Amino acid sequence: MAKIQMKTPLVEMDGDEMTRVIWKMIKDKLLLPYIDLKTEYYDLGLVKRNETNDQITIDSANATKKYGVAVKCATITPNAQRMTEYNLKEMWKSPNGTIRAILDGTVFRAPIIVKGINSLIPTWTKPITIARHAYGDVYKNSEMKVKDGSKAELVVTDKDGNETRQLIHEFKGSDGIIQGLHNINESIASFARSCFNFALDTKQTIWFATKDTISKQYDHTFKDIFAEIFETEYKTKFAEAGIEYFYTLIDDAVARVIRSEGGYIWACKNYDGDVMSDMVATAFGSLGMMTSVLVSPSGVYEYEAAHGTVTRHYYKHLKGEETSTNSVATIFAWTGALKKRGELDGTPELTEFAKKLEAATIKTIEDGVMTGDLYVLSTLPGKRKVNTEQFLDEINERLKATV
Ligand code: NAP
Ligand code: MG
Repeated sequence: MAKIQMKTPLVEMDGDEMTRVIWKMIKDKLLLPYIDLKTEYYDLGLVKRNETNDQITIDSANATKKYGVAVKCATITPNAQRMTEYNLKEMWKSPNGTIRAILDGTVFRAPIIVKGINSLIPTWTKPITIARHAYGDVYKNSEMKVKDGSKAELVVTDKDGNETRQLIHEFKGSDGIIQGLHNINESIASFARSCFNFALDTKQTIWFATKDTISKQYDHTFKDIFAEIFETEYKTKFAEAGIEYFYTLIDDAVARVIRSEGGYIWACKNYDGDVMSDMVATAFGSLGMMTSVLVSPSGVYEYEAAHGTVTRHYYKHLKGEETSTNSVATIFAWTGALKKRGELDGTPELTEFAKKLEAATIKTIEDGVMTGDLYVLSTLPGKRKVNTEQFLDEINERLKATV
């Protein structure tokens, strides 16, 4: 059989630990036999990042801007313990943070749903995709402890030196605390555009919610920017695609999400996204089934698994012990990138292949063959636990039958 040809390369960002092991297995078993794989390879493994003073991360993000589509393996974000483990020159920043800052993107997380792994919320039968605004609010706050008898004010000095003041609170009878938050209209607008583009891309309705009734300037600005961009740039396209933009209050959104069947994108302010993405991910089951894609407002895509490098399994692997690590989210990172590449390049064979690989992966689990994390969750009667490598071989058996 002739291999599928690619027109434009994908940016390939390799990573660390168990996911690096899986990365190579996926390529060797499921991609290279079928595709004449063209990638521009960047090794974002911690060793290489340290060697290049993290320049490799910046280069990979710039290449993503150039080619439009990247696929990323999970990477270590160094902490004190990694400093000694890898003998690092510096505590390098999170590659995801660096890449996100360069691409100015929004992260969308969606669970992969299979029969036999049921959501903890029985009504959730379709995926709920969470989009988290990744700038500002409490994550870039300024805060103080305040002594009794103090007066706290908001003071804004404009470019001509004029001051505007507003009382926050006069502390009488007790010490207290204050916090200053900010956001930037341009960042909110980028977030809105990424969300609307992704909704069109995936043909899903999008929900957005804030507390605009209480926060009449701050949260209301989010609501207004979303509304204006939707009205002027997306309303017609949404109508053509048969999808909707739905705005409500955050507490109403939470109630509706719980009662829903899923199948939409939920755009969240930074803090809401932090909290709700963990809730939604937990309800849908394993971290190994959660995908993630960074979408920039200009239409650049970076696909990855939502989980980390699965360190505990890697240490077992290094000792020669058997592992049963779930490769599904990493496979779907590849298929997401290949589908997008096929779409952008006009190479439907590539997109079709990626869909077949996804179908073979889901079929494997629905046939009862799965890794340990799913084995403990699955309700299928004849389920069977396999190791990391066997799982990929089982997928390949099913893939072979369809290509
Ligand atoms: P993790 O790698 O996501 O793993 C946490 C635990 O979740 C694992 O020990 C395992 O549980 C389970 N798990 C996660 N993915 C799994 C999979 N594919 N198959 C089976 N089980 C899976 O998170 P972590 O241990 O907190 O972080 C490890 C490293 O990853 C850190 O250095 C962190 O900086 C990095 N990280 C990177 C990214 C990224 O690149 N996007 C994201 C998060 C973390 P059991 O051990 O109970 O089996
Ligand atoms: Mg969180």
